[in-house]
Amino acid sequence: DRPLLDVENLTVRFAVRRGGVFGRKQYLDAVDGVSFALARGETLAIVGESGSGKTTTALAVARLVAAHSGRVELDGADILGLEGEALRQVRRKVQFIFQDPYSSLNPRQRAEDVVREPLQSLTDMSRDDQQKVIDELFVQVGLRPEQKRLFPHQFSGGQRQRIGIARALATRPELIICDEPVSALDVAVQAQILNLLRRLQKEFGLTYLFISHDLGVVQHMCDSIAVMYMGRIVEHGPRLSLFNNPLHPYTAALLSAVPSVDKARRAATRRILIPGDPPDPVNLPPGCRFANRCPVAQPQCRAREPSLRTVSGGQRVACHLVGEDGTAPL
Ligand code: SF4
Repeated sequence: DRPLLDVENLTVRFAVRRGGVFGRKQYLDAVDGVSFALARGETLAIVGESGSGKTTTALAVARLVAAHSGRVELDGADILGLEGEALRQVRRKVQFIFQDPYSSLNPRQRAEDVVREPLQSLTDMSRDDQQKVIDELFVQVGLRPEQKRLFPHQFSGGQRQRIGIARALATRPELIICDEPVSALDVAVQAQILNLLRRLQKEFGLTYLFISHDLGVVQHMCDSIAVMYMGRIVEHGPRLSLFNNPLHPYTAALLSAVPSVDKARRAATRRILIPGDPPDPVNLPPGCRFANRCPVAQPQCRAREPSLRTVSGGQRVACHLVGEDGTAPL
Protein backbone atom coordinates (compact mmCIF):
# COMPACT_ATOMS: atom_id res chain seq x y z
CA ASP A 1 0.00 0.00 0.00
CA ARG A 2 1.18 3.46 -0.86
CA PRO A 3 1.95 5.59 2.23
CA LEU A 4 -0.10 8.74 2.71
CA LEU A 5 3.05 10.73 3.32
CA ASP A 6 6.41 9.91 1.78
CA VAL A 7 9.32 12.19 2.55
CA GLU A 8 12.59 11.64 0.75
CA ASN A 9 15.88 13.37 1.41
CA LEU A 10 14.21 16.55 2.66
CA THR A 11 16.61 19.41 3.32
CA VAL A 12 15.69 22.84 4.68
CA ARG A 13 18.50 25.38 4.51
CA PHE A 14 18.64 28.67 6.37
CA ALA A 15 21.04 31.53 5.78
CA VAL A 16 22.56 33.02 8.91
CA ARG A 17 24.74 36.06 9.24
CA ARG A 18 26.99 36.33 12.23
CA GLY A 19 28.81 39.44 13.36
CA GLY A 20 26.20 42.00 12.26
CA VAL A 21 25.27 43.16 8.77
CA PHE A 22 28.90 42.98 7.62
CA GLY A 23 29.21 39.40 8.83
CA ARG A 24 29.72 36.56 6.42
CA LYS A 25 26.61 34.80 5.20
CA GLN A 26 26.68 31.14 6.19
CA TYR A 27 24.24 28.33 5.77
CA LEU A 28 22.85 25.75 8.07
CA ASP A 29 20.73 22.77 7.17
CA ALA A 30 18.10 22.72 9.91
CA VAL A 31 16.75 19.59 8.24
CA ASP A 32 19.44 17.58 6.52
CA GLY A 33 18.43 14.71 4.24
CA VAL A 34 15.44 13.44 6.19
CA SER A 35 13.45 10.48 4.81
CA PHE A 36 10.45 8.68 6.27
CA ALA A 37 7.07 7.30 5.25
CA LEU A 38 3.79 7.40 7.10
CA ALA A 39 0.89 5.03 6.38
CA ARG A 40 -2.70 6.23 6.33
CA GLY A 41 -4.39 6.10 9.73
CA GLU A 42 -1.11 5.80 11.61
CA THR A 43 0.81 8.13 13.90
CA LEU A 44 4.49 8.87 13.55
CA ALA A 45 6.10 10.78 16.38
CA ILE A 46 9.15 12.89 15.63
CA VAL A 47 11.05 13.42 18.84
CA GLY A 48 14.06 15.59 19.62
CA GLU A 49 15.34 18.57 21.60
CA SER A 50 14.89 22.11 20.42
CA GLY A 51 17.14 22.71 17.44
CA SER A 52 16.86 19.09 16.28
CA GLY A 53 14.87 20.08 13.18
CA LYS A 54 11.64 18.32 14.15
CA THR A 55 9.37 21.34 13.86
CA THR A 56 11.12 22.58 10.71
CA THR A 57 10.53 19.15 9.17
CA ALA A 58 6.82 19.45 9.98
CA LEU A 59 6.61 23.00 8.65
CA ALA A 60 8.28 21.94 5.39
CA VAL A 61 5.90 18.99 5.01
CA ALA A 62 2.97 21.41 5.41
CA ARG A 63 4.59 23.83 2.92
CA LEU A 64 4.86 26.50 5.63
CA VAL A 65 8.63 26.81 5.16
CA ALA A 66 10.39 26.25 1.85
CA ALA A 67 12.41 23.10 1.33
CA HIS A 68 15.86 23.44 -0.22
CA SER A 69 15.73 19.99 -1.81
CA GLY A 70 14.09 16.59 -1.57
CA ARG A 71 10.60 15.27 -2.19
CA VAL A 72 7.42 15.34 -0.13
CA GLU A 73 4.69 13.15 -1.57
CA LEU A 74 1.16 13.31 -0.27
CA ASP A 75 -0.93 10.44 -1.55
CA GLY A 76 1.53 9.89 -4.39
CA ALA A 77 1.78 13.50 -5.59
CA ASP A 78 4.88 15.64 -5.00
CA ILE A 79 3.64 18.73 -3.19
CA LEU A 80 6.84 20.77 -3.00
CA GLY A 81 6.37 22.43 -6.38
CA LEU A 82 2.65 23.13 -6.13
CA GLU A 83 1.14 26.61 -6.25
CA GLY A 84 -2.23 28.30 -6.54
CA GLU A 85 -5.32 26.10 -6.38
CA ALA A 86 -3.27 22.89 -6.14
CA LEU A 87 -1.47 24.27 -3.08
CA ARG A 88 -4.82 25.31 -1.58
CA GLN A 89 -5.95 21.68 -1.92
CA VAL A 90 -2.84 20.56 -0.04
CA ARG A 91 -3.55 23.10 2.71
CA ARG A 92 -7.04 21.65 2.99
CA LYS A 93 -5.64 18.12 3.36
CA VAL A 94 -2.79 18.96 5.75
CA GLN A 95 -3.69 20.87 8.90
CA PHE A 96 -1.73 21.93 11.98
CA ILE A 97 -2.47 21.85 15.68
CA PHE A 98 -0.07 24.29 17.27
CA GLN A 99 1.92 24.05 20.44
CA ASP A 100 0.42 26.86 22.37
CA PRO A 101 -3.35 27.29 22.28
CA TYR A 102 -2.87 30.59 24.14
CA SER A 103 -0.96 32.24 21.35
CA SER A 104 -2.29 30.50 18.25
CA LEU A 105 -5.85 31.81 18.63
CA ASN A 106 -6.78 35.35 17.70
CA PRO A 107 -7.99 36.99 20.95
CA ARG A 108 -10.55 39.13 19.12
CA GLN A 109 -12.17 36.27 17.22
CA ARG A 110 -15.12 34.39 18.66
CA ALA A 111 -14.50 30.65 18.97
CA GLU A 112 -16.80 29.87 16.03
CA ASP A 113 -14.95 32.33 13.81
CA VAL A 114 -11.63 30.73 14.71
CA VAL A 115 -13.03 27.42 13.45
CA ARG A 116 -14.66 29.11 10.44
CA GLU A 117 -11.43 30.66 9.20
CA PRO A 118 -10.03 27.61 7.31
CA LEU A 119 -13.50 26.89 5.88
CA GLN A 120 -13.57 30.39 4.46
CA SER A 121 -10.06 30.45 3.09
CA LEU A 122 -9.78 26.85 1.87
CA THR A 123 -13.28 25.74 0.79
CA ASP A 124 -16.15 27.17 -1.23
CA MET A 125 -18.73 26.18 1.37
CA SER A 126 -21.81 28.35 1.86
CA ARG A 127 -22.22 30.25 5.12
CA ASP A 128 -25.05 27.91 6.19
CA ASP A 129 -22.99 24.80 5.54
CA GLN A 130 -20.04 26.34 7.38
CA GLN A 131 -22.27 26.90 10.40
CA LYS A 132 -23.46 23.27 10.33
CA VAL A 133 -19.88 22.01 10.21
CA ILE A 134 -18.86 24.34 13.05
CA ASP A 135 -21.78 23.28 15.27
CA GLU A 136 -20.96 19.60 14.72
CA LEU A 137 -17.27 20.14 15.41
CA PHE A 138 -17.95 21.85 18.72
CA VAL A 139 -19.74 18.73 19.93
CA GLN A 140 -17.12 16.40 18.46
CA VAL A 141 -14.28 18.06 20.39
CA GLY A 142 -16.25 18.15 23.65
CA LEU A 143 -17.36 21.78 23.80
CA ARG A 144 -20.93 22.98 24.32
CA PRO A 145 -22.61 24.55 21.27
CA GLU A 146 -23.41 27.76 23.17
CA GLN A 147 -19.69 28.27 23.83
CA LYS A 148 -19.14 29.10 20.19
CA ARG A 149 -19.93 32.79 20.79
CA LEU A 150 -17.20 33.18 23.44
CA PHE A 151 -13.71 34.65 22.98
CA PRO A 152 -10.51 32.65 23.54
CA HIS A 153 -9.75 34.29 26.92
CA GLN A 154 -13.05 32.94 28.26
CA PHE A 155 -11.83 29.35 27.90
CA SER A 156 -9.38 27.26 29.92
CA GLY A 157 -6.12 26.09 28.30
CA GLY A 158 -7.56 22.65 27.55
CA GLN A 159 -10.71 24.14 26.05
CA ARG A 160 -8.62 26.43 23.89
CA GLN A 161 -6.72 23.45 22.57
CA ARG A 162 -10.10 21.85 21.78
CA ILE A 163 -10.91 24.93 19.68
CA GLY A 164 -7.54 24.53 17.95
CA ILE A 165 -8.39 20.88 17.24
CA ALA A 166 -11.84 21.82 15.87
CA ARG A 167 -10.20 24.35 13.57
CA ALA A 168 -7.70 21.75 12.35
CA LEU A 169 -10.53 19.28 11.64
CA ALA A 170 -12.79 21.76 9.85
CA THR A 171 -11.62 21.10 6.29
CA ARG A 172 -11.73 17.30 6.76
CA PRO A 173 -7.94 16.95 6.44
CA GLU A 174 -6.17 13.63 5.93
CA LEU A 175 -2.95 14.51 7.70
CA ILE A 176 -2.80 16.50 10.93
CA ILE A 177 0.51 17.75 12.22
CA CYS A 178 0.37 18.04 15.99
CA ASP A 179 3.25 20.26 17.08
CA GLU A 180 3.74 19.81 20.85
CA PRO A 181 -0.04 19.96 21.26
CA VAL A 182 -0.06 19.30 25.01
CA SER A 183 3.21 20.76 26.28
CA ALA A 184 1.54 23.99 27.48
CA LEU A 185 -1.07 22.05 29.48
CA ASP A 186 -0.96 20.44 32.89
CA VAL A 187 -0.73 16.67 33.15
CA ALA A 188 -4.41 15.86 33.78
CA VAL A 189 -5.50 18.03 30.86
CA GLN A 190 -2.74 16.54 28.68
CA ALA A 191 -4.29 13.10 29.11
CA GLN A 192 -7.75 14.40 28.12
CA ILE A 193 -6.44 16.07 24.98
CA LEU A 194 -4.39 13.00 23.97
CA ASN A 195 -7.48 10.81 24.46
CA LEU A 196 -9.52 13.20 22.35
CA LEU A 197 -6.91 13.11 19.58
CA ARG A 198 -6.94 9.31 19.63
CA ARG A 199 -10.74 9.14 19.49
CA LEU A 200 -10.89 11.61 16.60
CA GLN A 201 -8.20 9.66 14.76
CA LYS A 202 -10.40 6.56 14.80
CA GLU A 203 -13.59 8.46 13.98
CA PHE A 204 -12.16 10.39 11.04
CA GLY A 205 -9.43 7.98 9.89
CA LEU A 206 -6.80 10.65 10.50
CA THR A 207 -3.08 10.32 10.03
CA TYR A 208 -0.94 12.16 12.58
CA LEU A 209 2.56 13.50 12.45
CA PHE A 210 3.18 14.15 16.12
CA ILE A 211 6.05 16.46 17.06
CA SER A 212 7.30 16.37 20.64
CA HIS A 213 10.38 16.88 22.78
CA ASP A 214 9.00 14.34 25.23
CA LEU A 215 9.11 10.58 24.65
CA GLY A 216 6.81 10.19 27.66
CA VAL A 217 4.02 12.06 25.89
CA VAL A 218 4.27 10.04 22.69
CA GLN A 219 4.53 6.61 24.31
CA HIS A 220 0.77 6.02 24.16
CA MET A 221 0.21 8.11 21.09
CA CYS A 222 2.14 6.66 18.17
CA ASP A 223 2.80 3.61 16.01
CA SER A 224 6.36 4.56 15.23
CA ILE A 225 8.96 7.04 16.39
CA ALA A 226 11.71 8.94 14.61
CA VAL A 227 14.35 10.51 16.84
CA MET A 228 16.05 13.58 15.40
CA TYR A 229 19.34 15.15 16.38
CA MET A 230 20.92 18.16 14.67
CA GLY A 231 18.80 17.99 11.55
CA ARG A 232 19.02 14.24 11.02
CA ILE A 233 17.02 11.18 11.94
CA VAL A 234 19.30 9.11 14.16
CA GLU A 235 16.82 6.32 14.86
CA HIS A 236 13.43 5.34 13.49
CA GLY A 237 11.30 2.31 14.18
CA PRO A 238 8.10 0.86 15.60
CA ARG A 239 7.23 2.32 19.01
CA LEU A 240 7.66 -0.91 20.95
CA SER A 241 11.02 -1.80 19.37
CA LEU A 242 12.29 1.65 20.16
CA PHE A 243 11.04 1.59 23.74
CA ASN A 244 12.17 -1.96 24.46
CA ASN A 245 15.43 -1.90 22.56
CA PRO A 246 16.72 1.62 21.87
CA LEU A 247 19.78 1.30 19.66
CA HIS A 248 21.23 4.77 19.28
CA PRO A 249 22.96 6.09 22.42
CA TYR A 250 20.96 9.32 22.12
CA THR A 251 17.64 7.43 22.05
CA ALA A 252 18.77 5.38 25.05
CA ALA A 253 19.56 8.57 26.94
CA LEU A 254 16.23 10.18 26.07
CA LEU A 255 14.37 7.05 27.11
CA SER A 256 16.20 6.77 30.39
CA ALA A 257 14.63 10.08 31.39
CA VAL A 258 11.06 8.86 30.81
CA PRO A 259 9.42 7.87 34.08
CA SER A 260 8.32 4.27 33.66
CA VAL A 261 5.08 2.96 35.11
CA ASP A 262 6.52 -0.53 34.91
CA LYS A 263 8.34 -1.19 38.20
CA ALA A 264 10.76 -3.76 36.81
CA ARG A 265 11.74 -1.48 33.98
CA ARG A 266 12.13 1.47 36.28
CA ALA A 267 14.54 -0.54 38.40
CA ALA A 268 16.44 -1.80 35.36
CA THR A 269 16.94 1.58 33.70
CA ARG A 270 19.61 3.84 34.95
CA ARG A 271 19.48 7.45 34.03
CA ILE A 272 21.93 8.22 31.22
CA LEU A 273 23.00 11.84 31.32
CA ILE A 274 24.11 13.58 28.17
CA PRO A 275 26.88 16.02 29.00
CA GLY A 276 27.69 19.19 27.08
CA ASP A 277 25.88 20.98 24.29
CA PRO A 278 25.23 20.13 20.66
CA PRO A 279 27.93 21.41 18.26
CA ASP A 280 27.54 24.66 16.31
CA PRO A 281 25.15 23.78 13.46
CA VAL A 282 26.93 26.22 11.12
CA ASN A 283 30.34 24.62 11.67
CA LEU A 284 29.60 20.96 12.13
CA PRO A 285 32.55 18.79 13.08
CA PRO A 286 33.36 15.85 10.82
CA GLY A 287 31.96 12.47 11.80
CA CYS A 288 29.01 11.74 14.03
CA ARG A 289 27.16 14.86 15.20
CA PHE A 290 26.57 13.29 18.60
CA ALA A 291 30.22 12.32 19.18
CA ASN A 292 31.09 15.17 21.60
CA ARG A 293 28.28 14.07 23.93
CA CYS A 294 28.20 10.33 23.35
CA PRO A 295 29.27 8.20 26.34
CA VAL A 296 30.60 5.40 24.08
CA ALA A 297 32.21 7.42 21.25
CA GLN A 298 35.22 5.82 19.55
CA PRO A 299 37.91 7.43 17.36
CA GLN A 300 36.15 6.21 14.19
CA CYS A 301 33.03 8.17 15.23
CA ARG A 302 34.85 11.46 14.73
CA ALA A 303 36.25 10.41 11.36
CA ARG A 304 33.17 9.25 9.46
CA GLU A 305 29.55 10.29 9.68
CA PRO A 306 27.32 7.26 10.27
CA SER A 307 24.54 6.83 7.72
CA LEU A 308 21.03 5.67 8.54
CA ARG A 309 20.84 1.91 7.92
CA THR A 310 18.26 -0.75 8.64
CA VAL A 311 19.33 -3.41 11.12
CA SER A 312 17.65 -6.70 11.88
CA GLY A 313 14.39 -6.05 13.68
CA GLY A 314 13.54 -3.30 11.21
CA GLN A 315 14.78 -0.25 13.09
CA ARG A 316 16.74 2.32 11.13
CA VAL A 317 19.71 3.72 13.01
CA ALA A 318 22.70 5.98 12.36
CA CYS A 319 25.47 4.80 14.67
CA HIS A 320 28.75 3.02 13.82
CA LEU A 321 28.62 0.90 16.95
CA VAL A 322 25.19 -0.68 16.52
CA GLY A 323 25.58 -4.27 15.35
CA GLU A 324 23.90 -5.63 12.19
CA ASP A 325 21.96 -7.95 14.50
CA GLY A 326 20.58 -4.93 16.36
CA THR A 327 22.79 -4.90 19.42
CA ALA A 328 23.06 -1.54 21.14
CA PRO A 329 26.43 -0.10 22.23
CA LEU A 330 24.98 1.38 25.42
FE1 SF4 B 1 28.13 7.55 19.63
FE2 SF4 B 1 29.81 6.82 17.70
FE3 SF4 B 1 27.31 5.98 17.63
FE4 SF4 B 1 27.88 8.54 17.18
S1 SF4 B 1 28.49 6.79 15.92
S2 SF4 B 1 26.26 7.76 18.45
S3 SF4 B 1 29.56 8.88 18.59
S4 SF4 B 1 28.84 5.48 19.17
